[in-house]
Amino acid sequence: MSCKTLADGIHHFTCFPSFVRAGFSSREFPRARYEDFLTGLSLKMDDLVMVEQVHGREIFIAEVPTRGRMEVEADGLVTDRVGLVLGIRTADCVPIFFSSERTKSIGMVHGGRKGIRAAIIPQVIQTMRDLYRVDPSELVVAIGPCIRQCCYEVGEEILDGFSGFYRSANRGKAHLDLVGKVGAELVESGVDSNRIYDCKICTACSNDSFYSYRKEQGTSERILNVISLVG
Ligand SMILES: [Zn+2]
Repeated sequence: MSCKTLADGIHHFTCFPSFVRAGFSSREFPRARYEDFLTGLSLKMDDLVMVEQVHGREIFIAEVPTRGRMEVEADGLVTDRVGLVLGIRTADCVPIFFSSERTKSIGMVHGGRKGIRAAIIPQVIQTMRDLYRVDPSELVVAIGPCIRQCCYEVGEEILDGFSGFYRSANRGKAHLDLVGKVGAELVESGVDSNRIYDCKICTACSNDSFYSYRKEQGTSERILNVISLVG
């Protein structure tokens, strides 16, 4: 198992080195209770860094906490600063967590269909290479709860860039496998497939526990995904 539940609504990845704390929330923690979720992971709201997520490929280099304010437009964050908590909010998009043990650096990506097509995954890996001298083969990567191929039906007109990662359905529709595409891009970027851990949760199938934008037809609540170097 790549993750375990610490308490109701607090999910913790166990695949990372001991100096990394990473996890995600479920419905017990709407936005108004993010602080309680962080406390449950022994993290602090004061250390949280978040960005205004715009489905692009910009990576924000986190150096100081923003207490959860979102002043910079980006869809990925990286840091090597101990204590900062990188946060990405999702409700169907793919949250992707990165850590390198040797260089003691971490990253986090909001992987939506548009951002993935815009190559945010090679972008975050290149950023970690440039800034922290990370070798992609030493990265440990985790994939959080997101909408899976079982539930992600899209129009065939938007499948450009996802060749090989969808299954055609009726009436010009197809089922898109975003996680399959993410995995392929990680491996293409040099990540070892044995170091990619997937929590395997589908937000739409498990909508009783997790927010799903599609299943709920536009909820404004989001899962909070976080990763932090804890020293
Ligand atoms: Zn599903």
